[in-house]
Amino acid sequence: QPIALQRLIGEVADRMQIKAGAKEVTVINRAELDSVFLMGHSDSIRQLFYILLDNAVKYSEQGGKVEIEALLEGTNRVVCSVHDYGNGIPEEDLPYVFERFYRADKARSRNVEGTGLGLAIANQIVKMHKGQISVKSSKEQGTRFIVVLPVIQPRGDIRL
Ligand code: ATP
Repeated sequence: QPIALQRLIGEVADRMQIKAGAKEVTVINRAELDSVFLMGHSDSIRQLFYILLDNAVKYSEQGGKVEIEALLEGTNRVVCSVHDYGNGIPEEDLPYVFERFYRADKARSRNVEGTGLGLAIANQIVKMHKGQISVKSSKEQGTRFIVVLPVIQPRGDIRL
């Protein structure tokens, strides 16, 4: 089933903005994808963005901001990024964040609820859709998860 990515991202971002309101975190949606479709499982893709945005809000400071971006790269893939300005992930923990039950810097995340499963699930969903996921993080710049997914851009004469 072709998934209209722009709309899906918009829906998840709106839902997350409501959830983030209590913490006064602003969710900024900068996705710019016109007529870009992803072949796959829409509930899974929704869950993928939900996990990344949920973490971004969770690990943001009160009153912080979270940005989601999505751009077409070339003709058949999109690059999506979810960026927060929280404390970042210690460098020594970065290689493990996609493992099941891994939680970085236990002392610091002790007061943040979580099971350590979210990113493992996100990783599975990305793999299932033949994409790639990666992370960049530092104390100064916060954390950015980058997801690359294969997409299709239908010609004008084809209706999906
Ligand atoms: P849950 O899956 O229940 O949300 P979780 O957030 O602990 O729990 P993951 O989403 O798998 O689990 O994340 C694994 C670990 O990676 C987290 O415990 C946290 O230490 C770190 N992490 C993930 N995203 C961020 C982020 N945006 N900023 C800082 N640390 C993060």
